[in-house]
Amino acid sequence: MAVLEILTVPHPLLAKKCRPVEPQEFGPELRRFISDLAETMYAAPGVGLAAPQVGDLRRIIVTDPGNSKKEEDEKGRPTNPRFIAMSNPVIIEASKDKMVYEEGCLSVPEFYTDLMRPRKVHIRWLDEDGKPVQRWFEGYDAIVIQHEMDHLEGTVILDRVSGFKKSRYLQRRQREGRHGQESRM
Ligand SMILES: [Zn+2]
Repeated sequence: MAVLEILTVPHPLLAKKCRPVEPQEFGPELRRFISDLAETMYAAPGVGLAAPQVGDLRRIIVTDPGNSKKEEDEKGRPTNPRFIAMSNPVIIEASKDKMVYEEGCLSVPEFYTDLMRPRKVHIRWLDEDGKPVQRWFEGYDAIVIQHEMDHLEGTVILDRVSGFKKSRYLQRRQREGRHGQESRM
């Protein structure tokens, strides 16, 4: 197991559309990659991570909406962990009913924005053995999965806000990046 490096915007791989995982890829290598992706998500800590965020352009996401402060007991342990790894996830149906949630992203540090998405989604995916699975997700869990699936299309939360907000954020990042380099010298 290994904690991988998480890429941040404007890294070009975060803007690429990912390719499907092929049937022959299910096996030890994929299992190892998924466990590294999971370890990276828990270490961050985060509630979800998509393969392109660690520079791998395959349609793979891991989520555990229970890995958040809101769902911790007094000792900081998750009260309801619910890890899922999905390859080739597809939304087969989404509710007309929408909800607004303030989203952040490990690849877009220090940026949060309210986004509106369907409250319920019916997802079909392949599990770690390549077996097809499908079920409905609702509320926060549905939001997390939709956020991670956006990454597979090369879309980050910055692409869902106004061009003005996006360019202002990227300029700020660039300035801070330069400062960072100066202080290392
Ligand atoms: Zn993200």
